[in-house]
Amino acid sequence: MTQDKPKELRKLGLKVTVPRLKILQMLEESENRHMSAEDVYKSFLESGEDVGLATVYRVLTQFESAGLVTKHNFDGGHSVFELADGDHHDHMVCIDSGEVIEFVDEEIEALQKRIADKYGYDLIDHNLVLYVKPRG
Ligand SMILES: [Zn+2]
Repeated sequence: MTQDKPKELRKLGLKVTVPRLKILQMLEESENRHMSAEDVYKSFLESGEDVGLATVYRVLTQFESAGLVTKHNFDGGHSVFELADGDHHDHMVCIDSGEVIEFVDEEIEALQKRIADKYGYDLIDHNLVLYVKPRG
């Protein structure tokens, strides 16, 4: 995202506050594209920033309502949030490490459209999560 953050927040109808700016910046700059509230909170702790867990939860929920982030409720873990700025992709979740892997597969995309079509529907959206573990 290239536009400045205060402007970005205002455009979404969110008042510009320090915690909102800090959390938005964290989501944009972190290498981890799928962060739980705890992940965000811990990163702040590590960098010596004073943002409480309750604030992190509240702000992430506000971001979700504003359409700035997407919340994923993967099985067996915390909900994770990712910026809603990317292209469509599906997710794989490692049940050992909790790592989230993004993927896009043209065959799966086409197949899902064909299935909806077969049942007389247009495919509007889909959510596909594969639960995986490292090959032993
Ligand atoms: Zn993702």
